[in-house]
Amino acid sequence: MKMTIYANYKKVLAQVEEACRRANRPPRAVTLLPVSKTRPISMLEELYQEGVRCFGENYVQELTPKSRQLPDDVQWHMIGHLQRNKVKAVVSCASMIHSLDSMRLAQAIEEQCAKLEKKMDVLIEINCGEESKFGISFDEAPAFAARIGKLSHLCLRGLMTSAPFVENPEDNRKYFQQMRQLCVDINEKNIDNIHMDVLSMGMTNDYIIAVEEGATHVRVGTAIFGEREYP
Ligand SMILES: *Cc1c(COP(=O)(O)O)cnc(C)c1O
Repeated sequence: MKMTIYANYKKVLAQVEEACRRANRPPRAVTLLPVSKTRPISMLEELYQEGVRCFGENYVQELTPKSRQLPDDVQWHMIGHLQRNKVKAVVSCASMIHSLDSMRLAQAIEEQCAKLEKKMDVLIEINCGEESKFGISFDEAPAFAARIGKLSHLCLRGLMTSAPFVENPEDNRKYFQQMRQLCVDINEKNIDNIHMDVLSMGMTNDYIIAVEEGATHVRVGTAIFGEREYP
């Protein structure tokens, strides 16, 4: 059991690197982010011991204790929906927030970061048209980005999405292409304080396609840690 998590991680990493080669991208262009929600700290420690230094977490109540249990050189990525009353806890331990989905949340992060005199890297979460999910629509994203650019303690680094769950991951290629184009479009507007270079997209089911289409961060849970069991 103990060896399998790192072995899985290496398998996924090899797939990422192969997809980079197919797409003529440098193999190190992509950060593989193990998504460790619901997983015990021992599983994270196994990866840490092998040199993995970043994890994606969805829930503040897991992020906070896990960030205390692993050494300080781990970068924690907050990838789940974030409520404003949890912002304080997240700002103190996360290195990037992928799930920025409202102006009210942005303002709460801004206020907290101002207090601590720090800057927070953020990604705008884009919704690919699923009502059950959070996020900003493709159409609204440029105007939203411009407003985020005005908040001096936020550093808008790019975009994030969770594409629909589909039988055939090829079906999500169009969303990943739209994401990359949206990133280019926003950058071309030359909005003050914004230069975006992060595309967080691709999960267990579709990360290979996402890498082919320009993902810089893939968030992979099941393929590394196995099926999740929710209590
Ligand atoms: C759980 C989760 C993932 C990982 O999903 P898998 O299908 O297990 O790889 C990625 N991103 C977000 C936002 C998640 O909630």
